[in-house]
Amino acid sequence: MDKPRRIWVNTLLFSLTFVAAVTLIPWYGFHYGYTAADIIIAGLFLVFNGTAITAGYHRLWSHKAYEAHWSMRLWFAIWGAMATQNSIMHWASGHRRHHAFVDDYDKDPYSAKRGFWFSHIGWMLKEYDPKASDFSNIKDLKRDPIVVWQHKYYLLLVLATNIGFPLIAGLLTGNVVAALLLAGVLRLVLSHHFTFFINSLAHIWGKRPYTDKNTARDNGVLALLTWGEGYHNYHHIFQYDYRNGIRWWHYDPTKWIIYFGSKVGLTKGLKRVSNYRIEKARIDMQFKYASEKLTCQQALKNLEEQYEAISQTWQEWSKVRQQWVELKKEELKQNWETSDVHKQYEELKTLLQEQQKQWQLARAGLLT
Ligand SMILES: [Zn+2]
Ligand SMILES: [Zn+2]
Repeated sequence: MDKPRRIWVNTLLFSLTFVAAVTLIPWYGFHYGYTAADIIIAGLFLVFNGTAITAGYHRLWSHKAYEAHWSMRLWFAIWGAMATQNSIMHWASGHRRHHAFVDDYDKDPYSAKRGFWFSHIGWMLKEYDPKASDFSNIKDLKRDPIVVWQHKYYLLLVLATNIGFPLIAGLLTGNVVAALLLAGVLRLVLSHHFTFFINSLAHIWGKRPYTDKNTARDNGVLALLTWGEGYHNYHHIFQYDYRNGIRWWHYDPTKWIIYFGSKVGLTKGLKRVSNYRIEKARIDMQFKYASEKLTCQQALKNLEEQYEAISQTWQEWSKVRQQWVELKKEELKQNWETSDVHKQYEELKTLLQEQQKQWQLARAGLLT
């Protein structure tokens, strides 16, 4: 097989901006200093770039976790182009393959199995991916005129935003050089690596509470740098959920943007996985980990019995839930509150909650 050719544009872009960020930018700061306005503007650009990637490129276009008003899509397309991570079409196509073939050495474009460097940045430095321009998995996105427009004028948008926006900021603050360095270069380098961490570190560092079928990890620390995308183990099992951090206290600003967007009519059709499906996945994994760890046969047997009981209740619950869906279809919903199915549904829900509580207690007792 031929050796993959180097992609010089990417290699130079990543290396030159990085070198400038660690040399020129501190040097300028040391000699001339930066004002609060320089830093705030760079920070704002960083937020707009980062969330255009996470809420736009990722959760909206790659996963269709919700729908967004055209004005919001345009906003994401412009600030996403400024983040300089290729067009929405390229990004979403590669990302859908990442999910479909996660960890596959050849088919996952940034497979974590090829090491930290490759999954972080190496995959973009050479022509490793033979399917890089195969857009057969994003036919739906080609129907979005904003996506098509952004793809067509991507290079122009990258230049206009990366030079134009910092230039305007510099003219406003009165220091164009400081703006070009901070809001231009440093912002781009940070924005790049914060996103790249999701492909590298979020597949290496953290816990796997929902599935161990792939390398994706949940990591609250990483969520701080990645606008909430650190809950990557959850994301890989339930990729169409608009949330990555599912608890209310999980730091996931991307989820908050999407949620508040729905309150003002900018977003709709927010997809969420039911709590029971999430709990089921979590308990399955807890049982798996506990059985690997427990050496006492009796304790293991007790835990197994509890696990079987929960699984059975779970099965019955989903059966009843299915009946409920059927009922709804037949427009018998008005009788729903008084129906037997409803009674059964509520009873099972209570039982399941009780069993889950017992399960957590037993697990905690056995594993300490
Ligand atoms: Zn991933
Ligand atoms: Zn994803």
